[in-house]
Amino acid sequence: MIRVDEKGFYGKFGGAYIPEMLHPNIDELKENYEQIMASDEFQVEFRSLLKDFVGRPTPLYFASRLSEKYGVKIYLKREDLCHTGAHKVNNTVGQIIMAKKLGKKRIIAETGAGQHGVATATVCALMGMECTVYMGALDIQRQRPNVERMKILGAKVVPATSGSQTLKDATNEAMRQWINNPVDTHYIIGSVVGPHPYPEMVARFQSVISEEIKWQLKEKEGTENPDLVIACVGGGSNAAGAFFHYYNTPEVRLIAAEAAGLGISSGKSAATTALGTPGILHGSKTLLMQTEDGQVVEPHSISAGLDYPGIGPVHAHLFDTGRGEFVAVEDEDAMKAGIELSRLEGIIPAIETAHAIHALTMIEYKKDDIIVINLSGRGDKDLDTYIKWGGY
Ligand SMILES: *Cc1c(COP(=O)(O)O)cnc(C)c1O
Repeated sequence: MIRVDEKGFYGKFGGAYIPEMLHPNIDELKENYEQIMASDEFQVEFRSLLKDFVGRPTPLYFASRLSEKYGVKIYLKREDLCHTGAHKVNNTVGQIIMAKKLGKKRIIAETGAGQHGVATATVCALMGMECTVYMGALDIQRQRPNVERMKILGAKVVPATSGSQTLKDATNEAMRQWINNPVDTHYIIGSVVGPHPYPEMVARFQSVISEEIKWQLKEKEGTENPDLVIACVGGGSNAAGAFFHYYNTPEVRLIAAEAAGLGISSGKSAATTALGTPGILHGSKTLLMQTEDGQVVEPHSISAGLDYPGIGPVHAHLFDTGRGEFVAVEDEDAMKAGIELSRLEGIIPAIETAHAIHALTMIEYKKDDIIVINLSGRGDKDLDTYIKWGGY
């Protein structure tokens, strides 16, 4: 069985490894989130915003030319059509309602490439909540359009100037701020990472993806279960959402595509299950890329969203138990897959998503299988990267 236990563990991974000072915040969330999520009031508001603000249900699209090319039936779950261009907003909508129910007035968040920051700034504008987003100073320079989007939406973007001035430093800064402002502040984490209950809460908000796949596939194919579900994994929230209602349906294979960057053994990758060992990252026990003395290794991927040195604990567990099959996709192959999808289906995917498309060439399947690929986001944000790469 793949499910979280009371302490927030999926098998060996998960839990809440946090400083004493954070206990009040985490305990408050842990004690209330399930009850709040289960309430009619929450569900009515969440479902109505997913429908009218986010634009759900997103289509389950039969990709006929891609299917023809690979000799198998391929459906694309179109999370790229969500408001703000990716699945991330499913989670931020859920968490902003959660924050309101907990009586919070201020929102903080961390962001790497800015996608989660934009999704957070968006829902804060929607709810009239004060929003501060911590972002590495280097990332602020590299991700200018998303920084401006957040500012247009009314958020304050604060540079994290320590360390490598990227995502992990922004996360540290957000954690510090949260410790200092516990009573009125909610911290919106953007993936299935962090201390319990975040990984499970985020997965449940994203589980709307597989909830929809089930009835949509039933309508189209007469069965709720595809043979394979493929998704890319950075922290793992879009994958967790696409896998959630299939965790305990062993006949559905779960395929996770990590970023191999310049190659698994190049020293420049984010292939966490291939290279990682158990350790503590951002408050939970999981697999992470680290040196022998426990220093986190700086990850690399051409896609900012996969450029993370760990994975959520549920994915570490899927890997550990063999329930999930993991492949690692190199930068160059992902870029080519992005172009392939653009040309075959008229959909320019996010480069994160393009890793999941390339996974089709790395796994075995049967001719009459049905494959669902979670199309986590659209490529607009990645235009600069496509242009710099240039191979089209
Ligand atoms: C952020 C992002 C990802 C990676 O995050 P997960 O939590 O692993 O889903 C993948 N695809 C897109 C489009 C993203 O914006």
